[in-house]
Amino acid sequence: MAKITLDNLAHSYLAKPSSEDDFALKELNHVWGDGEAYALLGSSGCGKSTLLNIISGLLHPSQGRILFDDIDVTQATTSARNIAQVFQFPVVYDTMTVRDNLAFPLKNRGAEPAYIARRVQEIGAMIGMEAELDKRARGLTADAKQKISLGRGMVREDVNALLFDEPLTVIDPHMKWELRTQLKSLHHEFGHTMIYVTHDQTEALTFADKVVVMYDGRVVQIGTPQELFERPAHTFVGYFIGSPGMNVIPASVSGSQAQVHGTAVPLSQNFGTLAGKVELGVRPEFVTLTEGEGLPVTIRRVEDVGRHKIVRAQLFGKDLNIVAAEGQEISPDMTRVTFMPDHVNVYVDDWRSEGKAA
Ligand code: ADP
Ligand code: MG
Repeated sequence: MAKITLDNLAHSYLAKPSSEDDFALKELNHVWGDGEAYALLGSSGCGKSTLLNIISGLLHPSQGRILFDDIDVTQATTSARNIAQVFQFPVVYDTMTVRDNLAFPLKNRGAEPAYIARRVQEIGAMIGMEAELDKRARGLTADAKQKISLGRGMVREDVNALLFDEPLTVIDPHMKWELRTQLKSLHHEFGHTMIYVTHDQTEALTFADKVVVMYDGRVVQIGTPQELFERPAHTFVGYFIGSPGMNVIPASVSGSQAQVHGTAVPLSQNFGTLAGKVELGVRPEFVTLTEGEGLPVTIRRVEDVGRHKIVRAQLFGKDLNIVAAEGQEISPDMTRVTFMPDHVNVYVDDWRSEGKAA
């Protein structure tokens, strides 16, 4: 296991990049802690696989260095880096049995036959394929083949890191949950450094201790699920995480007060005078419908989603989502909303502004 340091890293697929837009991965400095489990989360095309492939050595960065425990591995091959990587689609040897597929990485490294037999049995159980160990991979479903790929990724205990690139895409929903749980317990048991790429926030938030959010080639925030929920560093994080995502409302801010279309909105901190594109970010959970004070809204629709209600409303012609308790009556007289001041984030040009005690 290793600590992985990215030093001034950036990557462009172009031979002669001329501007920042030409970089699939914009300049990045980050240390992945030894033995930590990370999720790398972002929409399709934001650079997740590019970053993962640079860490594993499948791709050489156009700029910067990668260190494993302070040893420069930037030019090292994938096998020299001693990493296990699992991809989105199955990579298995069709003519081999499931058992031989799982044993392959261990045989390759010259492990003892008795150890191999025991370990393959363990992993077979973990991926729910104990009964199929002697079948050839050829006849199996895509689902089963992907489980073998996952098993192959997990079979070695002596790797520096385990990298997963959207490994559960072809797996059915129930098995997805089960495998994710297995991966988590694998992490608790062996304490591998793990990076798990996904575009699915639920997957990211349930798997990882820390979530690294990427947007347009850039890491925009690294935090615990709670930090991402309470203090999104970028409007994209607020919008991408949460269901529904954070409301983003154009405003002006002076001191500890915001103005939205001439109505005052109290803030819990002092922001001084802000210039640029100023917006308030308020999660639907912290918006309260009232009959009295506040900003005027028009309710469009109320969705009952079981645990709570989602109220779809409009605020000055723009969508505003509100989460209300399951038992709360939504009456036609509720034409205003207030925000819980402690939960109003202030953004300048999409980045969160840190206020001072008011
Ligand atoms: P993600 O894994 O988050 O979906 P990728 O890392 O695959 O994103 O891609 C990031 C960007 O780099 C995208 O704009 C993609 O089109 C581009 N890209 C990825 N692979 C290549 C490649 N081999 N050659 C050129 N461009 C690529
Ligand atoms: Mg990808």
